[in-house]
Amino acid sequence: MPPCPRILVVGGGAVGMNVALRLQRRLRPGEAEVTVVDTTGYLTYQPFLPEAAAGSLEPRHVVVPLRRVLRRSRVVTGTVTAIRHADRVAHVELPDGEGFDLSYDVLVCCPGSVARALAIPGLGEVGIGFKTVAEAIYLRNRVLRRLELAASTPDPATRARALTFVFVGGGYAGIEALAELESMARDALRFFPGLDRRDLRWVLVEATDRILPEVSAGLGRSTLEQLRRRGIDVRLGTRLRSAVGGHVVLDDGTELDADTLVWTAGVRAHPLVERSDLPRDERGRIRVAADLAIDGADDAWAAGDSAAVPDLTGPPGATCAPSAQHAVRQAVRLADNLVASLRGEPTVPYRHAYVGSVASLGLYRGAAELYGVRIRGFPAWWLHRTYHLARLPTWNRRLRVIADWTLALLFRREIVSLGEFANPRRDFRLAAELAGTGDGPAARDPQGESPTATT
Ligand SMILES: Cc1cc2nc3c(=O)[nH]c(=O)nc-3n(C[C@H](O)[C@H](O)[C@H](O)COP(=O)(O)OP(=O)(O)OC[C@H]3O[C@@H](n4cnc5c(N)ncnc54)[C@H](O)[C@@H]3O)c2cc1C
Repeated sequence: MPPCPRILVVGGGAVGMNVALRLQRRLRPGEAEVTVVDTTGYLTYQPFLPEAAAGSLEPRHVVVPLRRVLRRSRVVTGTVTAIRHADRVAHVELPDGEGFDLSYDVLVCCPGSVARALAIPGLGEVGIGFKTVAEAIYLRNRVLRRLELAASTPDPATRARALTFVFVGGGYAGIEALAELESMARDALRFFPGLDRRDLRWVLVEATDRILPEVSAGLGRSTLEQLRRRGIDVRLGTRLRSAVGGHVVLDDGTELDADTLVWTAGVRAHPLVERSDLPRDERGRIRVAADLAIDGADDAWAAGDSAAVPDLTGPPGATCAPSAQHAVRQAVRLADNLVASLRGEPTVPYRHAYVGSVASLGLYRGAAELYGVRIRGFPAWWLHRTYHLARLPTWNRRLRVIADWTLALLFRREIVSLGEFANPRRDFRLAAELAGTGDGPAARDPQGESPTATT
């Protein structure tokens, strides 16, 4: 190992950013240099995405720019497309498409996860995931835009289709996203006198016989009852068969037309792991030892959603669930162990016992479990906000979030849909086309809501 080893952190999310922050604090001057490569250049605090989608939080306040907090690290905004750990080289692609090889001495690999999509006809064409700020913004605009369409169209079929929202997957992300968006839409209905709450159809499709597998069966059941009381059509033990052109077919025989299909049926390790020579388990996650060193690879560490981290508090062979709760704690243990290994000191295994979970189910509604105690309604919602506020990195972001929540007490939620943000060049392209200089149809996406576009 050279006197000042180069540490490369791949991914600046819950694990990557916290590893780099901790290394900044723990490393002595000249002991090592840290480079963080992240596709977006910011950490997304995913537990707040449902509130960002519902308009309770400004989307920019649920992300933390890496350059703002990692003052003593080098930050590269780019995508690592391959890792050859045997040669200690990662290939980085920059936003302009240019690429270069980045050499390192120690690797920390934490690119997180991607949606676990299945080969269902039409899913890729009409579906959208719920893991990024872009997806949260898109869904908020989408739901509001569909209310506007439904309120304006004379055609009952168009109206019914616009007001049908299908979510697939009853884990945390799916339940929170659905509950928050339903709450937002219900609130917005005040401004749509022609629409009634019963006109909106919210459907949750879940393949297993329960929702929220992350919490106890009892809390899952009571949350299910809460959602059903709100008129949400929850289908347990049901799978999506097809969604071609928005015509949704379920395996219980139900067929419905929906303009909005959200896929939140689980995650899998980021595909970058497959494009590396790092050891993987049968589920494609990086194999790590209990101290978070990658099994069978020297000078390499991993944690978070992309790693199979042994859960020392569970039965033999158990691995930690993909959660922010684990990711943040693993980051601290990983950084401390990395520093210890540089100094020739012993490392410590990662161990964290589950203490509970909190979920927001719309304004003033929630579900939580703490040390085995179930909490529902307003106290659970308050707990959710307090817990995640404390976990949100930096005081800058915390204060901005508090300001958002405080303003929301004084003013009601905004109902404006800024869908055209997704296609900002449309009007100018139309103008250029009229002038004879356009190079293609100006309004290819008449709703201005291409799922791939971001704000
Ligand atoms: C909607 C939603 C709600 C959630 N709510 C909760 C909750 O309430 N409680 C809880 O405990 N957990 C929750 N989670 C899960 C939690 O957010 C994740 O488990 C956690 O963020 C995982 O951390 P990570 O660092 O492994 O991945 P991430 O935080 O996803 O970070 C991965 C980073 O890697 C970057 N990246 C990816 N590929 C590359 C590449 N090739 N090159 C460079 N950079 C790359 C990404 O840009 C990203 O910044 C939620 C997740 C979602 C989606």
